[in-house]
Amino acid sequence: MKPVKRILVLALVLLVGACGLTGRPSMDTQGADSFEDDVRTARTLTEAFWTQQFQQSGRTYRPIADFVPYSGNSGPSCGNEPAVPNNAFYCPIGHFIAFDQTWMESLWNEMGDGSVYVIIPHEFGHAIQAQLQTNFQLNVQIELQADCYAGGTLSALVRSGVLDTEAGDEDELLLSLEAAGDPTDDWLNPSAHGTAGQRQASFATGYRDGVNAC
Ligand SMILES: [Zn+2]
Repeated sequence: MKPVKRILVLALVLLVGACGLTGRPSMDTQGADSFEDDVRTARTLTEAFWTQQFQQSGRTYRPIADFVPYSGNSGPSCGNEPAVPNNAFYCPIGHFIAFDQTWMESLWNEMGDGSVYVIIPHEFGHAIQAQLQTNFQLNVQIELQADCYAGGTLSALVRSGVLDTEAGDEDELLLSLEAAGDPTDDWLNPSAHGTAGQRQASFATGYRDGVNAC
């Protein structure tokens, strides 16, 4: 696939699930792409990035088996866990990612396309962890590392030129992280994402120093 340069609005939505932001995030554009384009592109670019990362360390990246959009309560279950509305998750059983596309499209509408480019790399972060770690289990540390991976993925894509940011977006990204309240979202496990400050620091570490710093 030929890389296309895309303008990316870095609205931070890792924490937006249910907790909301006190500040108004960037929301001026979704670029010329449709929501579906952005979702597809975020997946493609993220997997291309990790394929390369794995190659560089002599490993073989295993692509996710499925990428499942759902609406409301109609999502696929993960083991005994039913999918819930307003969520995106990685399921190690079956090695797939699923997301409530109605929820994600509303974030895309409200906050810009950056939302998709943060949530999807975060979920891929879990797919990476499942390949690198024996005994993969969600907990605060794992969530924070996925935030770090998302930051590292995003900055790598920006640096490689396949994604583009507008001036000030990176500052805004970190500011909106700061503005986020305590997380009460329920991305699979409501209590396991860390505080807003922790998540901000993790995302920023990845964004600044790359995924190897995660
Ligand atoms: Zn997560």
